[in-house]
Amino acid sequence: MLEIKNLHASLEEEDKAILKGVDLTVEAGKVHAIMGPNGSGKSTLSYVLSGKDGYEVTDGTATLEGEDILDMEPEERAAAGLFLAFQYPVEIPGVGNMTFLRTAVNAQRKARGEEEMSATEFLKVVRARARTLNIDAEMLKRPVNVGFSGGEKKRNEILQMAMLEPKMCILDETDSGLDVDAMKLVADGVNALRAEGRGFLVITHYQRLLDHIKPDVVHIMADGRIVKSGGPELALEVENNGYADILAEVA
Ligand code: ADP
Ligand code: MG
Ligand code: MG
Repeated sequence: MLEIKNLHASLEEEDKAILKGVDLTVEAGKVHAIMGPNGSGKSTLSYVLSGKDGYEVTDGTATLEGEDILDMEPEERAAAGLFLAFQYPVEIPGVGNMTFLRTAVNAQRKARGEEEMSATEFLKVVRARARTLNIDAEMLKRPVNVGFSGGEKKRNEILQMAMLEPKMCILDETDSGLDVDAMKLVADGVNALRAEGRGFLVITHYQRLLDHIKPDVVHIMADGRIVKSGGPELALEVENNGYADILAEVA
C-alpha cells in the first residue's frame, strides 16, 4: 500500500536534514505503529508524505499503490487515498464542520470521477458515524475545531477519516492529550475502519494506544530513521525500559 524507500527530507527554511533515510512498507490490511523519542522526525514524516509546504525531499521515494506521491499536490494525494490525522488539528473559523466534511467528501469523489453524495445520504452517513465517535449534532454545526476540547478535536479527525474512507491512514499522536475514555473512542473508531484494503500508520509516543489498536508491526524511529522494527512486544519493551536501551543497542 505505502512504500517508502531511503526517504531524506530537509526543512526548506533552515536547510536542516530531518529525515535521513526512512525505509518503511505498510501492506494493505495491516497496522504499523511508529514510536520514538520527541524530535525524532515522526511528524515530519507524516507531513512530507501528505505534502505540507516547507519541506524539501532530497532523496528517496514514496509510493501509494505503486504511484509516486511525492510529486503530487496534497489534494491529489488525498484523492489517491492518503489521509493524515494531525497531531495538532487546526481550527477553521467561519467554516462549519458539516460543510467542511461534505465539501471534502465531494471534492474527493469528483477527483476520482465518482458521483457526489446527495445531501440526504451525506446527512444520514455523517450522523451515524459521528454518533459512534460520541460527536453530537451541535459539534457538527460549529466551525471546524473552533472551541473544541483537545479530545473533541482528535475525535473530529477520526470522523474526517471515517467520512473520507482513505486507503492509507496516518495518525500522528492522535492519543496525545486524550483521557482514557476519549482514547477508547478514538481506538474504536480506528478499529471499525480496519479493513483488508486499508493500511494504517499509527504514530504514538506511548504504548497505551497500542493496547487498544493492536499493531501488526512496531517501528522505532530515532534521528530521522527507522532504527528497529518488530512485533507488538517492541512497544512493551519501550513501555518498560524507555528508548535508551534500544538506542544504545542500535548505536
Ligand atoms: P517528532 O514528531 O518525532 O516529535 P518532529 O518531526 O516534530 O519530531 O521534529 C523533528 C525535528 O525537526 C526536531 O528536531 C524539530 O525540532 C525539528 N523541526 C520540525 N519542524 C521544524 C520547524 N518548522 N522549524 C525548525 N525545526 C523543526
Ligand atoms: Mg513531538
Ligand atoms: Mg510529532
